[in-house]
Amino acid sequence: MAQIRVENLRKSFDQFTAVEGSNFTIDDGTFFAMLGPSGCGKTTTLRMIAGLELPTEGKILLDGKDVTFDRASARDIAFVFQLFALYPHMNVAGNIGFPLKCQGMGRREIRQRVEETARLLRIEHLLSSKTSKLSGGDRQRVALGRAMVRRPKAFLMDEPLGALDAEFRHLMCGELRDLHDRIGATTIYVTHDQLEAMSMADQIAVMNKGRVEQISSPQEIYDRPASMFVADFIGSPPMNFLRFEGGLHCGDRAISFHDTDIIVPEIREDRASAPLVLGVRPEHIRFTDAAPVRGEVFGAEYLGTTQIVTVDTAHGRVAARLPSAMPVRVGETVGLEFHSERLALFDAGSGLAIR
Ligand code: ATP
Repeated sequence: MAQIRVENLRKSFDQFTAVEGSNFTIDDGTFFAMLGPSGCGKTTTLRMIAGLELPTEGKILLDGKDVTFDRASARDIAFVFQLFALYPHMNVAGNIGFPLKCQGMGRREIRQRVEETARLLRIEHLLSSKTSKLSGGDRQRVALGRAMVRRPKAFLMDEPLGALDAEFRHLMCGELRDLHDRIGATTIYVTHDQLEAMSMADQIAVMNKGRVEQISSPQEIYDRPASMFVADFIGSPPMNFLRFEGGLHCGDRAISFHDTDIIVPEIREDRASAPLVLGVRPEHIRFTDAAPVRGEVFGAEYLGTTQIVTVDTAHGRVAARLPSAMPVRVGETVGLEFHSERLALFDAGSGLAIR
């Protein structure tokens, strides 16, 4: 098991910078998700950690040892590309033991290691089965077994569930997390799917245009996004943004929002005058007659226990998550009240959170 550290990691392809000055430490045993939209540099970062790509600048340390220029095979890291790609002509034991056979390990030792791995994955009873006969979940366990059998220090996974439909993917997420808890190996998991990252990871790194915007626990990422990009990328529907010209002083508890005072969480930074953005999650909005921010209901989307009601206000369209039992009429005028303690404030220019 291993601690993974990257220092000022950068990667350019000709003039284009795919990864820009990444710094982070992944503690031993952590399930670490790298999350971001297509092209933000997740795979490139992972490939550098795996040793499949050389950094343009910066260092990679494995348990404190500089491995930046070590070959992939010398790093003791398993790269899991596609959890379902198995060798069809071999049985389960053959698939799991294949990497050891390639290393030239003796038959008896291979058998021992394969059985030990199968026990950990609870698939001992499948060792002589054909892989084509396996369920999706068992195929995934076999593929993981093949990665685990070399006893790597860490697992790197690049969208391993990408090819699956949503329902099955959700099931597999639970399986993967459960396996991680039993094996305890440091895992880096690349995905563009926020639900996968939120449901499995201990820590999430949100990337945007080659840069890491925030590294925090899923709850911290959701509750205290470091930037408008993170706030917008996490949550469905995403956080609402309401722009205003505002002054804000250290310790202020209220903002003047278009002639209305709105109570906000106390901040430590001074922003005496700057265009600011108020961020509010859909579930932190209530309808009340007396509320100062008013608008007209544009539509309602029924989601079972809740509904997403969109309201057109003078400050833009706002989505609110409300109990579906609440009657809402398209076209009616409503007042919106925000949960003060849960509001976020951002600098409109940089997009960064004001704390
Ligand atoms: P995706 O989820 O689509 O794979 P990603 O976040 O993993 O996205 P990367 O694959 O790391 O992103 O790519 C980051 C950027 O670097 C992209 O714009 C990509 O086109 C570019 N890139 C990646 N590899 C190369 C390469 N070998 N040569 C040139 N450009 C590359």
